[in-house]
Amino acid sequence: MSLFDSPSFEGHEGIHAFSDEASGLKCIIAVHSTARGPAAGGCRMWNYASSDDALEDALKLSRAMSYKNAMADLELGGGKSVILGDARTQKTPALFEAFGRAVEAVGGRYWTAEDVGVSPTDLAYARKHTRYVAGLDGHAAASGDPSPVTAEGVFRGVRLCVRRALRRDLDGVRVAIQGVGHVGAYLAQKLHAAGAKLILTDVNTEMLRRVADATDAEVVAPGAIFDVDADVFAPCALGGAVSLDTLPRIRARVIAGAANNQLADAEAGRQLFRRGILYAPDYVINGGGIINVAGEIRALGRGEAFDPAWVEDKLDRLTLTLEEVLDQALHERRPTHEVANQIARARIAGAETRAAA
Ligand code: NAD
Repeated sequence: MSLFDSPSFEGHEGIHAFSDEASGLKCIIAVHSTARGPAAGGCRMWNYASSDDALEDALKLSRAMSYKNAMADLELGGGKSVILGDARTQKTPALFEAFGRAVEAVGGRYWTAEDVGVSPTDLAYARKHTRYVAGLDGHAAASGDPSPVTAEGVFRGVRLCVRRALRRDLDGVRVAIQGVGHVGAYLAQKLHAAGAKLILTDVNTEMLRRVADATDAEVVAPGAIFDVDADVFAPCALGGAVSLDTLPRIRARVIAGAANNQLADAEAGRQLFRRGILYAPDYVINGGGIINVAGEIRALGRGEAFDPAWVEDKLDRLTLTLEEVLDQALHERRPTHEVANQIARARIAGAETRAAA
């Protein structure tokens, strides 16, 4: 299939491929939309099996960022970059300096930040050659680790879904969390403080034990998390947790968590709906992190310090947007992810129309 026919291409404004022989950099910067503002999305470094796989990942991730940024009501479009290579063995300062030159070459239409395999230290090298980098430490506009803000947004989303689907508050509600890394651990603390009973899993047994001890949680093996007796399933590990294989095992009435791309495919989303499970669309409920990053981009643009009150206001609105999605889905009897996609596309199209007028 050619690039323009790929379903993932869907309306991309630009796809930029860069290579730098001296440093070994090979990267793709995908800009899905700048209708709402400059495209923003992290940089992922991954040992892709082929450049086709890297391109496919960049396209999917950049479109998802357009939707996520629109739903978080940010004046940002969607983009993403991927560096082809092994983040454990192939990172060098020269590689990230070359990446910075690549970001600069896109002329401010794309802002980068951290994603899987890329740290603030790496981005500091990129920053030498471009100002379009967020997520650095040590300056007044810096936003710091986005994970606590993501976790707060997810916590509020879980509480909302529980109120709507179970008609109760979090006290005594059983929540199964898959993955207690950066976001999952903060989420576990918040839910524990609200009186929820937790069932946790992680492939990292040391981390799992630490978080479980701190939250009086029950622990299960990674493969068993789909079978537990829980009211809420919160995927906070990798994508694809909700599939046609796992769905028949999930007994929870609510699925709400931090992971990106939770639905293995659209059919899993439709099956969820038929089973009467309330699903909080991932890119809506997990928008807290990009809101935090947007706070840094805003502060850098204005030459001001980072403003936590602005972030808090956006986080409040994110929960209202989730509520709007749930209301519309209920009213129209449609799956929540389809409603969220429709609202996101309408917000992007609205910005395109305003720009053209
Ligand atoms: P993380 O890498 O810190 O945590 C992920 C955890 O999942 C790790 O502890 C890992 O050991 C565990 N894990 C991996 N595979 C597993 C499996 N099969 N079963 C159980 N546990 C498994 O990542 P994070 O920053 O906490 O992000 C978690 C998810 O949320 C990711 O999908 C990420 O893309 C998404 N997300 C994160 C943020 C953020 O602010 N960090 C924002 C938006 C979305």
